[in-house]
Amino acid sequence: MNPARAVLGWQQAIGAGQVRTTTAELLRAGTATFATQAAVVAVLAPTSPAQVAACLRIAHAERVPIHPVSRGLNWGLGSRAPAVAGAVLDLSGLDQIVDVDEPRATVTVEPGVTFAQLDAFLTGRQSQLFLPTIGGSGQASIVGNAVERGHGIGPNPRRADAVAAIEAVLADGSEVRTGFAGATTFSGAAAHRHGVGPSLAGLFLQGRLAVVTRMTLHLERRPEALTLFGGRIGDGPALAGVLELLRPMLLDGSLGRSLFTVWNRYKYAACRQSYPWEAMRGEVPLDLAAVGTQPDWLFTGALYAPSVAHARVARHALANLTGVVASFRILEPEDPEFHRAAPKFLGTPGPDNLRSMYWRKPRGMPDSPEPERDRCGVLQLCPLLPMGGDALPAIQDIESLALAHGFEPQIGFDCTDPRTIEAFVTLSFDRDVPGEDERALTCHDAILNSLDQAGFPPYRLGVQSAGWQRKDSDRQQILIDRIRTVLDPHGVVV
Ligand SMILES: Cc1cc2nc3c(=O)[nH]c(=O)nc-3n(C[C@H](O)[C@H](O)[C@H](O)COP(=O)(O)OP(=O)(O)OC[C@H]3O[C@@H](n4cnc5c(N)ncnc54)[C@H](O)[C@@H]3O)c2cc1C
Repeated sequence: MNPARAVLGWQQAIGAGQVRTTTAELLRAGTATFATQAAVVAVLAPTSPAQVAACLRIAHAERVPIHPVSRGLNWGLGSRAPAVAGAVLDLSGLDQIVDVDEPRATVTVEPGVTFAQLDAFLTGRQSQLFLPTIGGSGQASIVGNAVERGHGIGPNPRRADAVAAIEAVLADGSEVRTGFAGATTFSGAAAHRHGVGPSLAGLFLQGRLAVVTRMTLHLERRPEALTLFGGRIGDGPALAGVLELLRPMLLDGSLGRSLFTVWNRYKYAACRQSYPWEAMRGEVPLDLAAVGTQPDWLFTGALYAPSVAHARVARHALANLTGVVASFRILEPEDPEFHRAAPKFLGTPGPDNLRSMYWRKPRGMPDSPEPERDRCGVLQLCPLLPMGGDALPAIQDIESLALAHGFEPQIGFDCTDPRTIEAFVTLSFDRDVPGEDERALTCHDAILNSLDQAGFPPYRLGVQSAGWQRKDSDRQQILIDRIRTVLDPHGVVV
């Protein structure tokens, strides 16, 4: 690896102003919401796919690893920081909304396009379409979120299911396209995910095999009748009952296009308030009684119906829950709460959940949150669980391990797949407290390993678990390694 020669090459190829090497820039790029080790040698800011290709060609020749980030707001999973020493490829300068196909409900974007940007664009042209936003920042990247197979707040929340054609640059600088991108003349072909023959799109999602420079995604249509609902489920066994009840409803499609989200009380509390240091007399973890509540489960969601008549049918199915949950409420459009809550279910990002990153910070969340700068501690885990009551032992394991290590287990998940749950678990802490970084990482690893051993592997990994080894299928790993050897023999894309 020759970083000095690579820096010279990058300066010549894309201009010295787009190759940042000041100590402040490098430190900022290498700082996450937890302790990181890898040094950043340069931040490269290309503004076109051709410049991306030039950066990669040089990295390939000089054997310098490159970590692509689209917006770098991968909070709890690494932010912009790489897993190994190398350059950060900042793609925020490629920020064009290339195309919106209103009749076929697709959008093609570059990596720098944010959720807020697309939402403003679609709203501005009075589009009937929206892209489910995230609970994280509206300034996060749509492509970054999709590449990591994130989740949106809307029907079909699993982002990877919305991904169609991809354009990417390989480690040697060559460009590739998946599906039918660029291969046909008719509008809509780019919406076809697979193309003909082996489907390649999957290689570039969590692949670390190429840099994605353009992506087409399916959009959602705004519903004629939006129904919002929420309530309290109750304790763990009550949660198991709800999951069992929901599974056949999801298989049957009784709720139509819908979103059903479950949070535990710790997540709910962290999104709404700061840690009650006074009531807890400075002790951790939180005793929920100190905030006047108990460890229970809550739900919120939406029904996206094409007519009032369809909504009535879905609401009737939803009413099955009333017998098993502790409380149940439908928000009617005339309720002011409906108007406060509705935008986030229709693609408009909001700041509500960001507060959870500042949960343990004594001064709470500032007006312009920047968790890396503010020394927020956030670690996320993403375990795959079964959809049903048999998820409960794993959930209880997460809760007891987190609490035993002194952290609140903030757990959330969507119930939209009748077979599996992709859960998200957040540990929030204060990096300014001595020893907290180490304690939080120990807790994170204990949960990751315990779940993995019990048969609940992660479906998404952050930089903090880059060394995690899959145990489920050696053969799958061997094939991935063989593909990597061909596409990126020097391991440049990381
Ligand atoms: C409070 C809170 C709420 C959150 N809510 C959600 C949520 O609702 N849904 C959700 O999914 N996540 C959520 N997250 C996690 C995270 O913030 C989001 O996933 C966010 O979208 C990631 O940041 P980004 O989009 O800027 O991606 P980036 O940081 O730009 O990219 C993420 C990773 O993807 C890879 N990558 C990025 N761009 C490219 C590219 N062009 N080519 C190849 N590889 C690339 C890199 O490995 C990179 O590190 C939340 C986090 C917090 C703390």
